[in-house]
Amino acid sequence: MGVPLSVISINEKHNLGIFEAGISKMNEMEKLETIIQPTIGIITNIGSAHDEGFEDLDKKIEEKLKLFTHSKLIIYQKNKAVDALINSKIKTFSWSFNDETADVFVSKNIIDGKTRVQIRNSKSNFEIEIPFQDDASVENAITCLMVLLSFKYDKASIQNRMQWLYPVEMRLKVKNGINNTTLIDDSYSSDFQSLKIALDFLESQKQYKNKTVILSDIFQSGLSNEELYSKVSQLIISNKIKRVIGIGETISAFKHKFANCVTFKNRADFFLNFNHLNFSNETILIKGARHFQFEEIVAALEEKTHETVLEINLNAISHNLNFYKSKLKPTTKMMVMVKAFGYGNGGFEIAKLLEHHKVDYLGVAFADEGISLKNAGIKLPIMVLNPETTSFSAIIQHHLEPEIYSLKGLNAFLKIAQQRKLKHFPIHIKLDTGMHRLGFEEENMDELISILKENKSVKVKSILSHMATSDDFTHQYFAHLQIDLFDRLSTKLMNELSIHPIRHLLNTSGISNFPKAQYDMVRLGIGLYGVSNAVEEQKYLENVGTLKSIISQIRTIQAGESVGYGRRFIATKTTKIATIPIGYADGISRHWGNGVGFITINGQKATIVGSICMDMLMVDVTEISCKEGNSVIIFGESPTVSFMASQLKTIPYEILTSISQRVKRVFYRE
Ligand SMILES: *Cc1c(COP(=O)(O)O)cnc(C)c1O
Repeated sequence: MGVPLSVISINEKHNLGIFEAGISKMNEMEKLETIIQPTIGIITNIGSAHDEGFEDLDKKIEEKLKLFTHSKLIIYQKNKAVDALINSKIKTFSWSFNDETADVFVSKNIIDGKTRVQIRNSKSNFEIEIPFQDDASVENAITCLMVLLSFKYDKASIQNRMQWLYPVEMRLKVKNGINNTTLIDDSYSSDFQSLKIALDFLESQKQYKNKTVILSDIFQSGLSNEELYSKVSQLIISNKIKRVIGIGETISAFKHKFANCVTFKNRADFFLNFNHLNFSNETILIKGARHFQFEEIVAALEEKTHETVLEINLNAISHNLNFYKSKLKPTTKMMVMVKAFGYGNGGFEIAKLLEHHKVDYLGVAFADEGISLKNAGIKLPIMVLNPETTSFSAIIQHHLEPEIYSLKGLNAFLKIAQQRKLKHFPIHIKLDTGMHRLGFEEENMDELISILKENKSVKVKSILSHMATSDDFTHQYFAHLQIDLFDRLSTKLMNELSIHPIRHLLNTSGISNFPKAQYDMVRLGIGLYGVSNAVEEQKYLENVGTLKSIISQIRTIQAGESVGYGRRFIATKTTKIATIPIGYADGISRHWGNGVGFITINGQKATIVGSICMDMLMVDVTEISCKEGNSVIIFGESPTVSFMASQLKTIPYEILTSISQRVKRVFYRE
């Protein structure tokens, strides 16, 4: 379904579509060809995955080339086998590291973790730098480069764009392990090609001289086991791996192929011998096919430093974004508020996801938040809600767009804009329509208009206002007064200045409650992070953040004994107490202690007893079956942030943004 779904989602705004088509057996490509009808064909890498589905390599190449039967151009890494099979009527554009007859000849050089790539063709000779060093990423980047060259981008733009590449969500994760070890976690796949990539990566992570590979049986090779394990063995030798730990029936049978090798029939056998394997001072690559569940091995080897983490579900963020998008007219643009570190959830990672989803704008509170996003490579336009006069230079330098809310601010910004001879620098005009926080008022309109009229250094990109009561129907009348005033003032500005800026008024609750006031754009905030101010809407949102910790210690106290500072909890019977390493310094309100709040352990509620300490809290686990080291949930599905907020007489915004930066954020995708 993937290919047709992608094709269907092309619309009139697009001028380029990129499709990835893979095959695992003969006669799959014809169908894809008629659906995609590509103008340009790119052959990335002819690897060994799915070799078992084809008679030989030529058949596989032939099948791949069927996709490009009607293409105008094929871009590929020069390769004799492909050359022989390509239809000579189709234009080709090839590159190579070693074949001088290729259209583009490439050489590379790794320096300080980056790769310098020298490009030579009939027309030019230049160098680019890419922020990767493993072979697969470098080859992918060269493929992109070839496309840019074929589109005739100039050298300077190519160099500029290449340096903005960043590593995509990696299957290979580097983690700190027990006893001074570094783990490379690739517990999701095991085919020969990906083993090569992983070993390449292992080589680049030169932490320790000793290298161990924990390897499961290998699948999808198309070779006989005899040949396959000989090749694996050669790879292991050439990568100077000190020892191999094989897990699985097949690899056990080929143990003799490896020099220093122990094997186990299965994971349970491995765990029985875990302590004798003496993992220490080495880099360990853990690589196994999914069903071997090597994540359990990773868990056993991983250093347990981060006991408290805020896990962020990126799928849930996408879901929530789409939920609010579905409430908008197709033409309404979307600004997403990522102020205060994405409402406590994470800055760059979330901005990157939003960029992927093609939202139109990001909003931050202060210039430095916007600068760190720009520095991290975010390209979306960013509006700064609260630009201080002292930050105007930095705003201009980093192409941020200030919200201007007073004549004083406008004049100060214009002064700098004129000094720098700026033309049409985008600014956003904020109107105060009743919130009485920031914004121009009705009485400022004439002066605002006359200043803007004679000024070409700035351009009013948008006009906005903010509602005070969008979440509360008892103030409906007031909300409509705000909408009417916004309408009137913004219309006046537009008419008298003859401009057509983007108008926007609604936050999350506004999107739900005042759909008629969408204007040209809305500003989504809390809803993206999985919290709605309306109970009936909450069920359509997915939970984004789960704050997790573990049980440090469990003890049993007798009736009359107390827990914590000030003896604020006194046991009335024999009571089992668990201590959790999270406290008010991590952002858990002290009001949540002393019997008010609870955490969830193995699906059951554990009431917080005594006062919450700076770095710890204690819970009653008398009725809960649990052990030291067990994982616990502070908030997430239960208790929800909204429930905590209602009990603590505050709002979810405060709870989310209070979680301290010392709590590590871990982003994941399901
Ligand atoms: C924070 C903010 C928003 C988003 O509000 P939510 O209630 O989180 O959706 C929108 N506009 C402005 C001006 C804001 O400051």
